[in-house]
Amino acid sequence: MRSSTQCYPRIVEKVLVSACLLGAKVRYHGGDARSEHPVLRRWKDEGRLVAVCPERDGGLPTPRPPAEIVGPEGGHGVLKKIAIVETRDGTDVTANFVRGAEEALAAARDAHIRVAVLKDGSPSCGTTFTYDGTFTGARIAVTGVTAALLEQHGVRIFSDTQLDAADQYLRSLP
Ligand code: SF4
Repeated sequence: MRSSTQCYPRIVEKVLVSACLLGAKVRYHGGDARSEHPVLRRWKDEGRLVAVCPERDGGLPTPRPPAEIVGPEGGHGVLKKIAIVETRDGTDVTANFVRGAEEALAAARDAHIRVAVLKDGSPSCGTTFTYDGTFTGARIAVTGVTAALLEQHGVRIFSDTQLDAADQYLRSLP
């Protein structure tokens, strides 16, 4: 039994991060989206990072055809079953995207994660925007499927362009 004066190790608050931001070649075109942001480097040194790739974890291959959310409300619409995720050639990949989101949520829960930094624009990880379902490059201010599911379960989501804000939020957590 520990004495009352014994020190317990400090628990490190983990952060869920899109694997492609850490250099994993898991994007639809087979490349990565590596970020050299100093906050990510420091978090790595502090042992905070939990990497996920919802599209890979949902069973899709790499490379894979690009996909977009078709229908209202982005990822939230997909979770409400009023929108779907389709590839450019019209293949419905909604089930893979939902499974990948559930895998990411499970990883977040396992590590008691309250903060996520996700690759913007992706139909899974998009945080401030995704593309509008027309495959024309038009952006729309909605979240991807994984971002939406994490948000619905209380994880605070930030995009890869908001790393300083994410770090500030992390430091403010009790
Ligand atoms: Fe990166 Fe997310 Fe796309 Fe995987 S699903 S490649 S982690 S943006």
